[in-house]
Amino acid sequence: NRQLLLASRPVGAPTPENFHLTETTIPSPQQGELLLKAVYLSLDPYMRGRMSDKKSYAEPVGINEVMVGGTVCQVTVSHHPDYQVGEWVLAYSGWQDYAVSNGEGLIKLGMNPTHPSYALGVMGMPGFTAYMGLLDIGQPKQGDTIVVAAATGAVGSMVGQIGKIKGCRVVGIAGGNEKCQYAKETLGFDECIDHHAANFAQQLADACTDGIDIYYENVGGKVFDAVLPLLNTGARIPLCGLISQYNATSLPDGPDRMNMLMGQLLVKRIKMQGFIIFDDYAHRYDEFAQQMSQWLAEGKIHYREDRVEGLEQAPQAFIGLLEGKNFGKVVVKVS
Ligand code: NDP
Repeated sequence: NRQLLLASRPVGAPTPENFHLTETTIPSPQQGELLLKAVYLSLDPYMRGRMSDKKSYAEPVGINEVMVGGTVCQVTVSHHPDYQVGEWVLAYSGWQDYAVSNGEGLIKLGMNPTHPSYALGVMGMPGFTAYMGLLDIGQPKQGDTIVVAAATGAVGSMVGQIGKIKGCRVVGIAGGNEKCQYAKETLGFDECIDHHAANFAQQLADACTDGIDIYYENVGGKVFDAVLPLLNTGARIPLCGLISQYNATSLPDGPDRMNMLMGQLLVKRIKMQGFIIFDDYAHRYDEFAQQMSQWLAEGKIHYREDRVEGLEQAPQAFIGLLEGKNFGKVVVKVS
């Protein structure tokens, strides 16, 4: 049973030395328990927060504990009346091959799901995050201009496509030409701007001639700086993530712009609201799942996975995720 442990807490960007690959015996389930074998492991930006012991909405991973994470598993042994061997489940068994469960928190995916890994992306946490943040906090109306960064990622790609379904103009922001082409040609965004470009802020302004009604915030930093002057009166900002800051060890240099930000929020009556998906919206998961499976079946949603082969590759893939090296939802094929 291979396990990836948190060996030390990163200072700045995580490095391979922050992880430790170890091998233990496969655990044995007791009466009322089952043995899960991870087939797919999800890698997500929030894991950077769990590696840190700064106070947050969730407990950190302890040193020498298994890294946490969502998984799609098969039941390989069952001493539990509700589960059969071979059944697929969505679990939270972390960065390891095997785990024992008493069934608590598992979501059944059936004996033969068509795309089991979708439960980690479009049909799971990231898709749900895009859906609730955009629809409940963003309140899109026909003709609104939506801007979303990390536009080809697990969350951003869904935000933009749902925005198009709702009749909005969607401007993506992504790292590099290939991602921008994909956002326009495959995901159907109206525009997509490369945030590495020297004149990025000007290009964004040119793409948003009617201003911005909804800015779905995934990244923060210089992207937010470029967005702020373009926001319209009454704009909404679902504050979903700030990935450009997750490895930061201090506040950026420069003048204190807090009063300018608050002044803009005031005079333009901008609503900015943070949310933590399952803490705030668990009660609406069924509504999301029904709607998203319908859109998928109708061919209205494109979904791209960035597949990584082998559990041992997870640390490098996670480090890459925080640097924009992924192209699509990162899923590790564990074995
Ligand atoms: P992605 O699949 O989008 O991967 C992360 C992407 O972020 C990278 O590919 C890169 O895309 C972009 N990025 C990284 N660093 C920077 C930077 N400095 N400036 C601009 N872009 C950067 O990840 P997810 O879709 O899983 O997550 C997106 C955001 O949503 C994250 O902030 C995450 O924390 C948040 N989130 C929040 C939840 C909540 O409940 N509030 C739940 C789930 C996710 P590119 O190369 O295009 O720049």
